[in-house]
Amino acid sequence: LPLIAVCGRPNVGKSTLFNRLTGSRRSIVGDEPGITRDRIYGEIEWQGQDARIVDTGGVVPDDEALIPAEIFRQAQVALEEADAIVMVVDGRTELASPDMELARLLLRGGKPVFLAVNKMDTDAMQVQAENFRRLGFKNVLPISAEHGTGIGDLLDEVFAMLPEPREIETPEVMLTEGDEMAEDEDGPDFSPAPGAVVKPARRLRSHGEYEAKETKVAIIGRPNVGKSTLLNALTGTSRAIVSPIAGTTRDAVDEVVERGGHNFRFVDTAGIRRKGKTKLMAEKLSVIMARKHLEAADVSLLVIDATEGVAALDANIGGYAHESGRSVVIVINKWDLMTKTGPDGMRLFDGKPPADQKVYEQQVRDNLKYLEYAPLLFISAADGKNIESVFKKVELVSRERRKRVTTGQMNKFLEKVDFQKASVPMNKRVRIYYMTQAAVAPPTFVLFTDKDVKMHFSFERFLGNQIRDNFGFIGSPIWFKIKARN
Ligand code: GDP
Repeated sequence: LPLIAVCGRPNVGKSTLFNRLTGSRRSIVGDEPGITRDRIYGEIEWQGQDARIVDTGGVVPDDEALIPAEIFRQAQVALEEADAIVMVVDGRTELASPDMELARLLLRGGKPVFLAVNKMDTDAMQVQAENFRRLGFKNVLPISAEHGTGIGDLLDEVFAMLPEPREIETPEVMLTEGDEMAEDEDGPDFSPAPGAVVKPARRLRSHGEYEAKETKVAIIGRPNVGKSTLLNALTGTSRAIVSPIAGTTRDAVDEVVERGGHNFRFVDTAGIRRKGKTKLMAEKLSVIMARKHLEAADVSLLVIDATEGVAALDANIGGYAHESGRSVVIVINKWDLMTKTGPDGMRLFDGKPPADQKVYEQQVRDNLKYLEYAPLLFISAADGKNIESVFKKVELVSRERRKRVTTGQMNKFLEKVDFQKASVPMNKRVRIYYMTQAAVAPPTFVLFTDKDVKMHFSFERFLGNQIRDNFGFIGSPIWFKIKARN
Protein backbone atom coordinates (compact mmCIF):
# COMPACT_ATOMS: atom_id res chain seq x y z
CA LEU A 1 0.00 0.00 0.00
CA PRO A 2 1.15 3.53 -0.62
CA LEU A 3 2.37 5.37 2.46
CA ILE A 4 1.53 8.88 3.60
CA ALA A 5 3.76 10.50 6.21
CA VAL A 6 2.64 13.21 8.61
CA CYS A 7 5.37 15.54 9.85
CA GLY A 8 5.49 18.60 12.01
CA ARG A 9 6.78 20.02 15.21
CA PRO A 10 5.15 19.18 18.57
CA ASN A 11 1.75 20.66 19.45
CA VAL A 12 0.71 21.64 15.98
CA GLY A 13 -2.07 19.04 16.09
CA LYS A 14 -0.46 16.10 14.35
CA SER A 15 -1.95 13.50 16.65
CA THR A 16 -5.43 14.97 16.40
CA LEU A 17 -5.13 14.89 12.64
CA PHE A 18 -3.70 11.41 12.69
CA ASN A 19 -6.51 10.13 14.89
CA ARG A 20 -9.12 11.75 12.72
CA LEU A 21 -7.65 10.24 9.60
CA THR A 22 -7.28 6.74 10.90
CA GLY A 23 -10.24 6.51 13.27
CA SER A 24 -10.17 3.21 15.09
CA ARG A 25 -7.89 1.57 12.56
CA ARG A 26 -4.86 3.06 14.11
CA SER A 27 -2.28 0.69 15.42
CA ILE A 28 0.55 1.69 17.65
CA VAL A 29 3.67 -0.09 16.62
CA GLY A 30 6.32 -0.84 19.13
CA ASP A 31 4.45 0.43 22.13
CA GLU A 32 6.20 -1.97 24.47
CA PRO A 33 8.82 -1.35 27.09
CA GLY A 34 12.24 -1.08 25.63
CA ILE A 35 11.03 -0.24 22.18
CA THR A 36 11.12 3.33 21.11
CA ARG A 37 7.66 4.43 20.25
CA ASP A 38 8.65 6.75 17.52
CA ARG A 39 6.39 5.91 14.67
CA ILE A 40 2.70 5.32 14.70
CA TYR A 41 1.15 3.61 11.75
CA GLY A 42 -2.47 3.51 10.73
CA GLU A 43 -4.61 2.70 7.78
CA ILE A 44 -6.85 4.97 5.84
CA GLU A 45 -9.34 4.54 3.06
CA TRP A 46 -10.46 7.42 0.89
CA GLN A 47 -12.80 7.19 -2.09
CA GLY A 48 -12.19 3.49 -2.44
CA GLN A 49 -8.43 3.82 -2.29
CA ASP A 50 -6.39 2.45 0.61
CA ALA A 51 -3.20 3.78 2.05
CA ARG A 52 -1.04 3.48 5.12
CA ILE A 53 -0.25 6.51 7.13
CA VAL A 54 2.62 7.14 9.50
CA ASP A 55 3.03 9.74 12.19
CA THR A 56 6.74 10.33 12.16
CA GLY A 57 6.78 12.50 15.23
CA GLY A 58 5.96 10.03 17.95
CA VAL A 59 8.84 11.08 20.13
CA VAL A 60 9.02 14.57 21.40
CA PRO A 61 12.40 15.40 22.87
CA ASP A 62 12.06 17.29 26.12
CA ASP A 63 15.18 19.17 25.43
CA GLU A 64 14.50 22.12 23.13
CA ALA A 65 17.96 21.79 21.73
CA LEU A 66 17.16 18.34 20.41
CA ILE A 67 14.19 19.49 18.38
CA PRO A 68 16.10 20.39 15.22
CA ALA A 69 17.74 16.98 15.22
CA GLU A 70 14.41 15.29 15.73
CA ILE A 71 12.91 17.30 12.90
CA PHE A 72 15.74 16.24 10.68
CA ARG A 73 15.18 12.61 11.56
CA GLN A 74 11.44 12.90 10.87
CA ALA A 75 12.04 14.36 7.48
CA GLN A 76 14.47 11.62 6.66
CA VAL A 77 12.03 8.90 7.64
CA ALA A 78 9.33 10.57 5.59
CA LEU A 79 11.49 11.07 2.56
CA GLU A 80 12.79 7.53 2.60
CA GLU A 81 9.57 5.69 3.11
CA ALA A 82 6.59 7.76 2.09
CA ASP A 83 4.87 8.30 -1.25
CA ALA A 84 3.41 11.58 -0.09
CA ILE A 85 4.18 13.83 2.85
CA VAL A 86 1.88 16.11 4.81
CA MET A 87 3.56 18.73 6.91
CA VAL A 88 1.38 20.19 9.65
CA VAL A 89 1.80 23.69 11.08
CA ASP A 90 -0.19 25.58 13.68
CA GLY A 91 -2.00 28.33 11.78
CA ARG A 92 -2.52 30.34 14.96
CA THR A 93 1.10 30.82 15.79
CA GLU A 94 3.99 32.46 14.07
CA LEU A 95 6.22 30.30 11.98
CA ALA A 96 9.05 28.89 14.04
CA SER A 97 12.48 28.12 12.73
CA PRO A 98 11.99 24.34 13.04
CA ASP A 99 9.01 24.75 10.70
CA MET A 100 11.18 26.42 8.12
CA GLU A 101 13.91 23.89 8.53
CA LEU A 102 11.52 20.99 8.10
CA ALA A 103 9.86 22.63 5.12
CA ARG A 104 13.18 23.16 3.44
CA LEU A 105 14.19 19.54 3.87
CA LEU A 106 10.87 18.20 2.67
CA LEU A 107 10.66 20.46 -0.37
CA ARG A 108 14.11 19.36 -1.48
CA GLY A 109 13.19 15.70 -1.25
CA GLY A 110 11.41 15.37 -4.56
CA LYS A 111 8.31 13.69 -3.13
CA PRO A 112 4.79 15.13 -3.32
CA VAL A 113 4.46 17.41 -0.30
CA PHE A 114 1.46 19.18 1.22
CA LEU A 115 1.19 21.82 3.88
CA ALA A 116 -1.78 21.45 6.23
CA VAL A 117 -2.35 24.68 8.14
CA ASN A 118 -4.12 23.44 11.24
CA LYS A 119 -6.44 25.08 13.78
CA MET A 120 -8.20 27.11 11.09
CA ASP A 121 -11.55 26.66 12.80
CA THR A 122 -13.53 29.37 11.03
CA ASP A 123 -13.88 30.55 7.48
CA ALA A 124 -12.35 33.88 8.34
CA MET A 125 -9.26 32.18 9.69
CA GLN A 126 -8.80 30.16 6.55
CA VAL A 127 -7.53 33.26 4.82
CA GLN A 128 -4.62 33.27 7.24
CA ALA A 129 -3.47 29.98 5.82
CA GLU A 130 -2.26 31.94 2.82
CA ASN A 131 0.44 33.48 5.02
CA PHE A 132 2.11 30.10 5.17
CA ARG A 133 2.65 29.99 1.45
CA ARG A 134 6.00 31.60 2.03
CA LEU A 135 7.23 28.27 3.32
CA GLY A 136 7.34 27.42 -0.36
CA PHE A 137 4.67 24.74 -0.64
CA LYS A 138 2.50 24.72 -3.72
CA ASN A 139 -0.26 22.84 -1.95
CA VAL A 140 -1.40 24.77 1.11
CA LEU A 141 -4.60 23.58 2.75
CA PRO A 142 -6.35 25.11 5.74
CA ILE A 143 -7.72 22.45 8.05
CA SER A 144 -9.17 22.04 11.48
CA ALA A 145 -8.19 18.63 12.76
CA GLU A 146 -10.36 19.26 15.80
CA HIS A 147 -13.50 20.13 13.85
CA GLY A 148 -12.79 17.99 10.87
CA THR A 149 -12.98 20.74 8.30
CA GLY A 150 -10.76 20.79 5.25
CA ILE A 151 -9.77 17.18 5.79
CA GLY A 152 -11.60 16.00 2.69
CA ASP A 153 -9.82 18.54 0.52
CA LEU A 154 -6.51 17.52 1.96
CA LEU A 155 -7.18 13.85 1.30
CA ASP A 156 -8.33 14.59 -2.23
CA GLU A 157 -5.08 16.33 -2.98
CA VAL A 158 -2.90 13.75 -1.31
CA PHE A 159 -4.61 10.72 -2.80
CA ALA A 160 -4.49 12.23 -6.25
CA MET A 161 -0.71 12.08 -6.00
CA LEU A 162 -0.42 8.53 -4.72
CA PRO A 163 0.58 5.80 -7.12
CA GLU A 164 -2.55 4.19 -8.48
CA PRO A 165 -2.72 0.51 -7.68
CA ARG A 166 -4.62 -0.45 -10.75
CA GLU A 167 -4.83 1.10 -14.11
CA ILE A 168 -7.89 0.51 -16.18
CA GLU A 169 -7.71 0.28 -19.90
CA THR A 170 -9.75 2.84 -21.73
CA PRO A 171 -9.74 3.37 -25.43
CA GLU A 172 -7.74 6.23 -26.72
CA VAL A 173 -10.01 9.16 -27.00
CA MET A 174 -9.64 12.43 -28.66
CA LEU A 175 -9.37 15.65 -26.83
CA THR A 176 -8.60 18.77 -28.68
CA GLU A 177 -7.03 21.95 -27.59
CA GLY A 178 -9.77 24.48 -27.20
CA ASP A 179 -7.76 27.28 -28.72
CA GLU A 180 -7.34 25.53 -32.01
CA MET A 181 -11.03 24.92 -32.42
CA ALA A 182 -13.59 27.07 -34.04
CA GLU A 183 -16.38 27.90 -31.60
CA ASP A 184 -18.82 25.06 -31.43
CA GLU A 185 -22.09 25.86 -33.17
CA ASP A 186 -24.01 24.83 -30.09
CA GLY A 187 -21.58 26.69 -27.90
CA PRO A 188 -22.55 29.10 -25.23
CA ASP A 189 -23.52 32.45 -26.58
CA PHE A 190 -22.96 34.52 -23.50
CA SER A 191 -19.87 36.56 -23.11
CA PRO A 192 -19.11 37.53 -19.54
CA ALA A 193 -17.32 40.80 -19.10
CA PRO A 194 -13.53 40.74 -18.77
CA GLY A 195 -12.46 39.67 -15.33
CA ALA A 196 -15.77 37.98 -14.74
CA VAL A 197 -14.44 35.45 -12.34
CA VAL A 198 -16.58 34.37 -9.48
CA LYS A 199 -14.71 32.60 -6.72
CA PRO A 200 -15.51 28.91 -6.53
CA ALA A 201 -17.79 27.90 -3.72
CA ARG A 202 -16.21 26.89 -0.49
CA ARG A 203 -15.96 23.19 -0.85
CA LEU A 204 -18.29 21.22 1.31
CA ARG A 205 -17.42 17.74 2.27
CA SER A 206 -19.38 14.57 2.64
CA HIS A 207 -16.74 12.96 4.73
CA GLY A 208 -19.19 12.26 7.52
CA GLU A 209 -17.77 15.39 9.02
CA TYR A 210 -20.05 17.94 7.52
CA GLU A 211 -23.67 17.56 6.80
CA ALA A 212 -25.36 20.43 5.10
CA LYS A 213 -28.30 21.58 7.12
CA GLU A 214 -28.40 24.91 5.41
CA THR A 215 -28.43 25.95 1.80
CA LYS A 216 -27.46 29.46 0.79
CA VAL A 217 -29.68 30.69 -1.98
CA ALA A 218 -29.12 33.62 -4.34
CA ILE A 219 -32.11 35.06 -6.17
CA ILE A 220 -30.78 36.54 -9.39
CA GLY A 221 -32.25 38.03 -12.55
CA ARG A 222 -32.72 41.27 -14.37
CA PRO A 223 -34.96 44.08 -13.10
CA ASN A 224 -38.70 43.47 -12.72
CA VAL A 225 -38.68 39.76 -13.33
CA GLY A 226 -40.12 39.38 -9.83
CA LYS A 227 -37.14 38.70 -7.58
CA SER A 228 -38.47 40.66 -4.59
CA THR A 229 -41.93 39.24 -5.06
CA LEU A 230 -40.44 35.75 -5.09
CA LEU A 231 -38.39 36.48 -1.98
CA ASN A 232 -41.54 37.64 -0.23
CA ALA A 233 -43.39 34.55 -1.32
CA LEU A 234 -40.58 32.30 -0.11
CA THR A 235 -40.09 33.98 3.23
CA GLY A 236 -43.62 35.23 3.80
CA THR A 237 -45.77 32.21 3.00
CA SER A 238 -43.69 30.13 5.31
CA ARG A 239 -45.01 30.25 8.82
CA ALA A 240 -41.68 28.93 10.04
CA ILE A 241 -38.78 30.92 11.40
CA VAL A 242 -37.93 33.97 9.39
CA SER A 243 -35.03 35.80 10.83
CA PRO A 244 -32.87 38.44 9.30
CA ILE A 245 -29.21 37.85 9.94
CA ALA A 246 -26.64 40.54 9.54
CA GLY A 247 -24.02 39.56 7.05
CA THR A 248 -20.49 40.68 6.50
CA THR A 249 -21.17 44.06 5.02
CA ARG A 250 -23.26 46.64 6.74
CA ASP A 251 -26.26 46.46 4.44
CA ALA A 252 -26.21 42.78 3.56
CA VAL A 253 -29.01 40.99 5.34
CA ASP A 254 -29.81 37.32 5.01
CA GLU A 255 -33.18 35.79 5.71
CA VAL A 256 -33.42 32.23 6.87
CA VAL A 257 -36.45 30.04 6.40
CA GLU A 258 -36.69 26.60 7.91
CA ARG A 259 -38.52 23.82 6.06
CA GLY A 260 -38.64 20.24 7.27
CA GLY A 261 -35.41 20.53 9.21
CA HIS A 262 -33.59 22.22 6.36
CA ASN A 263 -32.56 25.85 6.48
CA PHE A 264 -32.74 28.02 3.40
CA ARG A 265 -30.67 31.13 3.74
CA PHE A 266 -31.56 33.77 1.18
CA VAL A 267 -28.41 35.80 0.86
CA ASP A 268 -28.30 39.57 0.92
CA THR A 269 -32.01 40.15 0.75
CA ALA A 270 -31.45 43.89 0.93
CA GLY A 271 -29.55 43.58 -2.33
CA ILE A 272 -32.35 41.63 -3.96
CA ARG A 273 -34.68 44.53 -3.33
CA ARG A 274 -32.27 47.23 -4.47
CA LYS A 275 -33.28 49.01 -7.64
CA GLY A 276 -31.50 51.42 -9.95
CA LYS A 277 -32.96 54.82 -10.77
CA THR A 278 -32.74 54.53 -14.52
CA LYS A 279 -33.37 51.42 -16.60
CA LEU A 280 -29.73 51.19 -17.58
CA MET A 281 -28.57 51.61 -14.01
CA ALA A 282 -31.06 49.04 -12.82
CA GLU A 283 -29.80 46.59 -15.41
CA LYS A 284 -26.17 47.13 -14.55
CA LEU A 285 -26.97 46.83 -10.88
CA SER A 286 -28.77 43.55 -11.45
CA VAL A 287 -25.61 42.06 -12.95
CA ILE A 288 -23.38 43.38 -10.19
CA MET A 289 -25.78 42.06 -7.57
CA ALA A 290 -26.08 38.70 -9.28
CA ARG A 291 -22.32 38.25 -9.15
CA LYS A 292 -22.12 39.36 -5.55
CA HIS A 293 -24.96 37.09 -4.52
CA LEU A 294 -23.50 34.13 -6.38
CA GLU A 295 -20.32 34.44 -4.38
CA ALA A 296 -22.22 33.99 -1.17
CA ALA A 297 -24.48 31.18 -2.36
CA ASP A 298 -24.61 27.45 -3.01
CA VAL A 299 -27.66 27.53 -5.22
CA SER A 300 -29.04 30.27 -7.44
CA LEU A 301 -32.58 30.88 -8.55
CA LEU A 302 -32.40 32.41 -12.01
CA VAL A 303 -35.67 34.26 -12.34
CA ILE A 304 -37.08 34.81 -15.85
CA ASP A 305 -40.13 36.90 -16.65
CA ALA A 306 -42.45 34.56 -18.58
CA THR A 307 -44.05 37.44 -20.46
CA GLU A 308 -40.70 38.47 -21.89
CA GLY A 309 -38.86 35.21 -22.36
CA VAL A 310 -35.08 34.92 -22.22
CA ALA A 311 -33.48 38.26 -23.00
CA ALA A 312 -29.78 38.87 -23.61
CA LEU A 313 -29.36 40.09 -20.05
CA ASP A 314 -30.96 36.93 -18.66
CA ALA A 315 -28.53 34.85 -20.68
CA ASN A 316 -25.69 37.00 -19.43
CA ILE A 317 -26.66 36.59 -15.79
CA GLY A 318 -27.27 32.87 -16.37
CA GLY A 319 -23.74 32.69 -17.78
CA TYR A 320 -22.32 34.04 -14.56
CA ALA A 321 -24.30 31.51 -12.57
CA HIS A 322 -23.00 28.70 -14.75
CA GLU A 323 -19.39 29.83 -14.52
CA SER A 324 -19.54 30.33 -10.77
CA GLY A 325 -19.99 26.63 -10.13
CA ARG A 326 -23.16 27.20 -8.18
CA SER A 327 -26.18 25.04 -8.79
CA VAL A 328 -28.97 26.64 -10.75
CA VAL A 329 -32.73 26.36 -10.76
CA ILE A 330 -34.44 28.26 -13.56
CA VAL A 331 -37.62 29.90 -12.34
CA ILE A 332 -40.13 31.06 -14.96
CA ASN A 333 -42.15 33.65 -13.08
CA LYS A 334 -45.47 35.40 -13.88
CA TRP A 335 -46.79 32.22 -15.45
CA ASP A 336 -50.28 33.35 -14.41
CA LEU A 337 -50.18 35.99 -17.12
CA MET A 338 -49.34 33.41 -19.77
CA THR A 339 -52.31 31.20 -19.00
CA LYS A 340 -55.19 33.24 -17.62
CA THR A 341 -57.78 33.46 -20.39
CA GLY A 342 -60.98 35.43 -20.92
CA PRO A 343 -64.35 34.20 -22.28
CA ASP A 344 -62.89 34.10 -25.80
CA GLY A 345 -60.29 31.59 -24.69
CA MET A 346 -57.52 34.09 -25.30
CA ARG A 347 -55.05 35.44 -22.75
CA LEU A 348 -56.22 38.47 -20.81
CA PHE A 349 -52.66 39.70 -20.78
CA ASP A 350 -52.17 40.14 -24.52
CA GLY A 351 -55.05 38.44 -26.32
CA LYS A 352 -52.90 35.60 -27.56
CA PRO A 353 -53.57 31.87 -27.15
CA PRO A 354 -52.51 30.47 -23.74
CA ALA A 355 -48.94 29.26 -23.59
CA ASP A 356 -47.97 25.62 -23.48
CA GLN A 357 -45.42 24.71 -20.82
CA LYS A 358 -43.54 22.15 -22.92
CA VAL A 359 -43.18 24.47 -25.89
CA TYR A 360 -42.22 27.32 -23.63
CA GLU A 361 -39.63 25.30 -21.76
CA GLN A 362 -38.01 24.26 -25.02
CA GLN A 363 -37.67 27.89 -26.05
CA VAL A 364 -36.04 28.79 -22.76
CA ARG A 365 -33.66 25.83 -22.99
CA ASP A 366 -32.70 26.78 -26.53
CA ASN A 367 -31.67 30.17 -25.24
CA LEU A 368 -29.88 28.93 -22.14
CA LYS A 369 -28.05 25.93 -23.59
CA TYR A 370 -25.21 25.95 -21.10
CA LEU A 371 -27.70 25.57 -18.25
CA GLU A 372 -29.12 22.33 -19.64
CA TYR A 373 -28.56 20.67 -16.25
CA ALA A 374 -30.73 23.18 -14.39
CA PRO A 375 -34.23 22.11 -13.36
CA LEU A 376 -36.90 24.51 -14.56
CA LEU A 377 -40.02 25.58 -12.68
CA PHE A 378 -43.09 27.57 -13.64
CA ILE A 379 -44.34 29.75 -10.84
CA SER A 380 -46.39 32.77 -10.04
CA ALA A 381 -44.69 34.60 -7.23
CA ALA A 382 -47.45 37.20 -6.96
CA ASP A 383 -50.14 34.53 -6.57
CA GLY A 384 -47.93 32.29 -4.44
CA LYS A 385 -48.29 29.48 -6.98
CA ASN A 386 -45.82 26.60 -6.98
CA ILE A 387 -43.65 28.20 -4.30
CA GLU A 388 -43.35 24.90 -2.41
CA SER A 389 -41.69 23.31 -5.41
CA VAL A 390 -39.00 25.98 -5.28
CA PHE A 391 -37.98 24.83 -1.81
CA LYS A 392 -38.04 21.20 -2.91
CA LYS A 393 -35.88 21.82 -5.96
CA VAL A 394 -33.39 23.92 -4.05
CA GLU A 395 -33.00 21.16 -1.50
CA LEU A 396 -32.62 18.58 -4.25
CA VAL A 397 -29.92 20.43 -6.15
CA SER A 398 -28.18 21.29 -2.91
CA ARG A 399 -27.93 17.59 -2.10
CA GLU A 400 -26.92 16.66 -5.64
CA ARG A 401 -24.03 19.09 -5.74
CA ARG A 402 -22.47 17.42 -2.70
CA LYS A 403 -22.75 13.92 -4.01
CA ARG A 404 -19.69 11.74 -4.26
CA VAL A 405 -18.86 9.01 -6.68
CA THR A 406 -16.13 6.63 -5.62
CA THR A 407 -13.16 5.98 -7.85
CA GLY A 408 -14.34 2.39 -8.13
CA GLN A 409 -17.73 3.47 -9.47
CA MET A 410 -16.00 5.93 -11.73
CA ASN A 411 -13.75 3.28 -13.21
CA LYS A 412 -16.69 0.99 -13.93
CA PHE A 413 -18.49 3.87 -15.55
CA LEU A 414 -15.52 4.83 -17.68
CA GLU A 415 -15.28 1.32 -19.09
CA LYS A 416 -18.86 1.61 -20.35
CA VAL A 417 -18.56 4.97 -22.05
CA ASP A 418 -18.62 4.79 -25.82
CA PHE A 419 -16.07 7.41 -26.69
CA GLN A 420 -16.72 6.96 -30.41
CA LYS A 421 -19.90 8.91 -29.78
CA ALA A 422 -18.02 11.93 -28.55
CA SER A 423 -17.70 13.07 -32.18
CA VAL A 424 -15.14 15.68 -31.43
CA PRO A 425 -12.98 17.03 -34.21
CA MET A 426 -9.67 15.50 -33.45
CA ASN A 427 -6.18 16.71 -33.70
CA LYS A 428 -4.70 15.30 -30.58
CA ARG A 429 -4.72 11.79 -29.22
CA VAL A 430 -4.93 11.49 -25.51
CA ARG A 431 -5.15 8.41 -23.38
CA ILE A 432 -7.33 8.59 -20.31
CA TYR A 433 -6.02 6.25 -17.64
CA TYR A 434 -8.68 6.85 -15.09
CA MET A 435 -10.85 9.50 -13.54
CA THR A 436 -11.67 10.40 -9.96
CA GLN A 437 -14.01 12.84 -8.32
CA ALA A 438 -11.69 15.27 -6.61
CA ALA A 439 -14.23 17.63 -5.10
CA VAL A 440 -17.87 18.31 -4.46
CA ALA A 441 -19.83 21.55 -4.76
CA PRO A 442 -19.44 21.65 -7.67
CA PRO A 443 -18.60 18.04 -8.51
CA THR A 444 -15.11 18.15 -9.98
CA PHE A 445 -13.47 15.31 -11.82
CA VAL A 446 -9.82 14.81 -12.50
CA LEU A 447 -8.85 12.95 -15.64
CA PHE A 448 -5.46 11.35 -15.50
CA THR A 449 -4.06 11.41 -18.99
CA ASP A 450 -0.78 10.83 -20.73
CA LYS A 451 -0.64 14.33 -22.16
CA ASP A 452 -1.34 17.73 -20.76
CA VAL A 453 -4.09 19.14 -22.96
CA LYS A 454 -6.99 21.46 -22.68
CA MET A 455 -10.29 19.66 -22.91
CA HIS A 456 -12.40 20.69 -25.80
CA PHE A 457 -15.71 22.21 -24.90
CA SER A 458 -17.82 19.62 -26.68
CA PHE A 459 -15.83 16.73 -25.24
CA GLU A 460 -16.38 18.19 -21.80
CA ARG A 461 -20.08 18.40 -22.49
CA PHE A 462 -20.15 14.83 -23.81
CA LEU A 463 -18.41 13.47 -20.73
CA GLY A 464 -20.49 15.66 -18.44
CA ASN A 465 -23.69 14.31 -19.94
CA GLN A 466 -22.49 10.73 -19.61
CA ILE A 467 -21.71 11.36 -15.96
CA ARG A 468 -25.12 12.92 -15.45
CA ASP A 469 -26.90 10.00 -17.10
CA ASN A 470 -25.18 7.68 -14.67
CA PHE A 471 -24.93 9.65 -11.47
CA GLY A 472 -27.32 12.59 -11.64
CA PHE A 473 -25.74 15.72 -10.20
CA ILE A 474 -29.01 17.48 -10.98
CA GLY A 475 -28.73 21.24 -11.17
CA SER A 476 -25.00 21.43 -10.78
CA PRO A 477 -22.32 22.18 -13.32
CA ILE A 478 -19.61 19.55 -13.56
CA TRP A 479 -16.03 20.66 -13.62
CA PHE A 480 -13.07 18.83 -15.10
CA LYS A 481 -9.36 18.98 -14.58
CA ILE A 482 -6.66 17.26 -16.53
CA LYS A 483 -3.64 15.84 -14.81
CA ALA A 484 -0.96 14.54 -17.09
CA ARG A 485 1.13 11.69 -15.74
CA ASN A 486 4.63 11.82 -16.99
P1 GDP B 1 -37.55 42.51 -9.19
O1 GDP B 1 -37.06 43.77 -9.76
O2 GDP B 1 -37.01 41.36 -9.95
O3 GDP B 1 -37.36 42.37 -7.74
O4 GDP B 1 -39.14 42.46 -9.50
P2 GDP B 1 -40.38 42.76 -8.52
O5 GDP B 1 -40.51 41.66 -7.53
O6 GDP B 1 -40.28 44.12 -8.02
O7 GDP B 1 -41.58 42.59 -9.55
C1 GDP B 1 -41.73 43.43 -10.66
C2 GDP B 1 -43.18 43.54 -11.00
O8 GDP B 1 -43.70 42.27 -11.43
C3 GDP B 1 -44.05 43.95 -9.82
O9 GDP B 1 -45.01 44.85 -10.29
C4 GDP B 1 -44.69 42.65 -9.37
O10 GDP B 1 -45.94 42.85 -8.76
C5 GDP B 1 -44.83 41.90 -10.67
N1 GDP B 1 -44.82 40.45 -10.46
C6 GDP B 1 -43.91 39.74 -9.80
N2 GDP B 1 -44.21 38.43 -9.82
C7 GDP B 1 -45.35 38.30 -10.52
C8 GDP B 1 -46.19 37.19 -10.89
O11 GDP B 1 -45.94 36.03 -10.57
N3 GDP B 1 -47.28 37.45 -11.64
C9 GDP B 1 -47.61 38.71 -12.00
N4 GDP B 1 -48.71 38.86 -12.71
N5 GDP B 1 -46.87 39.77 -11.67
C10 GDP B 1 -45.76 39.58 -10.93
